[in-house]
Amino acid sequence: MARSASRRDFLGLAGLTAVAAGLSCIGGALGYLALDYLTSGSPTSPAPAPSGPSSNRVKHIDCPPIIARAEWNARAPDHSAKNEPGFYSAINPLGWCVYDGDLRTIYRTVIVHHSVLYEKDDPVTMRTIQDLHIDSRGWADIAYHFAVGKSGQVFEGRALDVRGAHVSDYNTGSLGVVFFGDFEHEVPTPEQLNVGRQLINWLALRLELTHLAGHSEFNDFTECPGRYMIYYLDALAESAGLSRGTGGYQPPE
Ligand SMILES: [Zn+2]
Repeated sequence: MARSASRRDFLGLAGLTAVAAGLSCIGGALGYLALDYLTSGSPTSPAPAPSGPSSNRVKHIDCPPIIARAEWNARAPDHSAKNEPGFYSAINPLGWCVYDGDLRTIYRTVIVHHSVLYEKDDPVTMRTIQDLHIDSRGWADIAYHFAVGKSGQVFEGRALDVRGAHVSDYNTGSLGVVFFGDFEHEVPTPEQLNVGRQLINWLALRLELTHLAGHSEFNDFTECPGRYMIYYLDALAESAGLSRGTGGYQPPE
């Protein structure tokens, strides 16, 4: 099942096509790489510091290096996917959706997952998960927006301006970050905790997120992200100046 993955220049993001998010909540619409949304401009002043529970948010965060889709040999999204509208349900009525407008007005909550599946190394795991999601689950692309490997590598997943498919019924405005491992039975590595914290801090700042939740808080049928990751969620949220839980979710209009 494992496939060979490109090992060249994991940090190279050159060549990414930057396209502003446009309204295209229709089947067959293209999703665009949107890493530039996160990495362009001044990381020190993307938005006024929020008040309230986010008042401790740090003002300067370096984005961790992100391994682009091409670097882990990602497949193009499959716009003929049959199950994209749902995650074990039909409630995601518009299916593949490229968000319209400023992503800071769309994203509210970062949802943490574990992969359970883990291949022999992180890039291979990334491609294996994408294959599973497209070929077995019937989704258009990998479900998550970002992944954090055991070695501390960060991978670009589904395009940031495309709605995820990582949580049942609550995908709109929810950013999906998966950590590789099965945290019901093992602990995350220090490297992935450290880099994952940096990634979430960065995302919280740039996207003006308000909340962090584990997958199981939205969907009680799953143990994801596993007890040994759930243990760290309070600290991850506090570090990023985020409130814990599902309270930030806003249903689609
Ligand atoms: Zn999950």
